[in-house]
Amino acid sequence: MSYVDEVFEALKVKHPTEDEFLEAAERVLDTIRPAVEANEEKYRKAGLLERLVEPERIITFRVPWTDDKGVNHVNLGYRVQFNSAIGPYKGGLRFHPSVNQSILKFLGFEQIFKNSLTGLPIGGGKGGADFDPKGKSDAEVMRFCQSFMTELYKYIGADEDVPAGDIGVGGREVGYLYGQYKRITNLYEGVLTGKGLSFGGSLARPEATGYGLVYITDEMVRAAGKDLKGKTVVISGSGNVAQYATQKATQLGAKVVTLSDSNGYIYDPDGIKLDIVMEIKNVKRGRIREYVDQVPSAKYFEGERPWGVKCDIALPCATQNEINGEDAKKLIDNGCWCVAEGANMPSDADAIDAYLKAKILYMPGKAANAGGVATSALEMSQNSERLSWSFEEVDSKLKNIMVGIYEKVAEAAKKYSYETDFVTGANIAGFEKVADAMMAQGLV
Ligand code: NDP
Repeated sequence: MSYVDEVFEALKVKHPTEDEFLEAAERVLDTIRPAVEANEEKYRKAGLLERLVEPERIITFRVPWTDDKGVNHVNLGYRVQFNSAIGPYKGGLRFHPSVNQSILKFLGFEQIFKNSLTGLPIGGGKGGADFDPKGKSDAEVMRFCQSFMTELYKYIGADEDVPAGDIGVGGREVGYLYGQYKRITNLYEGVLTGKGLSFGGSLARPEATGYGLVYITDEMVRAAGKDLKGKTVVISGSGNVAQYATQKATQLGAKVVTLSDSNGYIYDPDGIKLDIVMEIKNVKRGRIREYVDQVPSAKYFEGERPWGVKCDIALPCATQNEINGEDAKKLIDNGCWCVAEGANMPSDADAIDAYLKAKILYMPGKAANAGGVATSALEMSQNSERLSWSFEEVDSKLKNIMVGIYEKVAEAAKKYSYETDFVTGANIAGFEKVADAMMAQGLV
């Protein structure tokens, strides 16, 4: 049995109930196989893969808090410190009732490779709690965040572990968590990212994921001898990532013709007017269908996703598993020749197979949406220097990082003769840096 298979079989026996984590580990291990086989003896002797698939540490703790009626509750809090070979643990905190150890291990494992791809010194981690902020008052959320941080602060630090937001943890929660950390430790340091601009946040962080997605798409398209100018782009979602992807794609001369939310999608053949979308979504907190009230030439399709619309490029920016095998086939049949993922895992396994089979340009989210975490790492740098960089400075660094990610992914794919397979390229490029660092640091 190959080393990769041996390690995966043992992992299944050790963690039989962790479905999400096992699925992620299998997907990654399978694609890094050529890089492992090229060094099999060395890696086996060092127990490299056995160590790679086990978190360095998992911290689990109870989070007691009192609601507005005086009733006490206890939630479960976690921090998975997966791998610190190339830098302090870095990854978001998720507050959602579905949170459990398997999901956080899956997300933390993926984060190792995404963070490595950015070229910045950040390791992989993830954390959170099975707490649902929906329907809770500000005071309840604050008490929960304070109780959560009262335990977590012992295990994190600017040079140790730097959490950020994720589902259910936005600017409000990061603010409360930061306030409690500072209060307990008396330290004003970059221990969390995604902070408000008035207390150490970075300019261009809101734009970073969407802009980064378009920068790497532009690079990939140009490497294929094409150009974004004049191309028709289909985007899903209408939140943070979708909005800034629309803005940057439009600035680069492409025409974005769709956006969506969980109720349906809008099609504007003349190109989406982003100021109208931003007013509806960010100011009025309305639904995307309201766009057609203001732009009568646009159409709204209730209950549908935009994958049947003819386009050159598709940028899924809404949620996981939003493109299945049939959707992918529709896109390809309609002439789509490029897919880059703003969302995390928007394409299911059948969709990815369809892209790879058709040999269209496809950049997986791990590489394509890494601009968000990369800019969080730039926030850490600014906090360490006690300086704030201009928007232009952060944006130009972001662009260089995304170009660098494309180069690393394409090079790794080429090195192992998987030229058109950037899934394999991204996993191998992410893995090789971490593997080098782990080998150099000995059996730890
Ligand atoms: P937002 O919450 O700002 O926006 C999410 C958008 O997706 C909304 O328009 C939402 O519509 C839509 N959506 C949610 N669920 C569904 C569904 N089931 N079907 C169709 N549409 C849906 O999130 P972000 O823009 O920040 O994140 C989008 C994706 O990008 C996520 O996968 C996230 O993990 C990923 N990502 C985000 C990063 C960031 O920096 N923000 C970094 C890296 C990845 P509705 O209003 O109806 O809910």
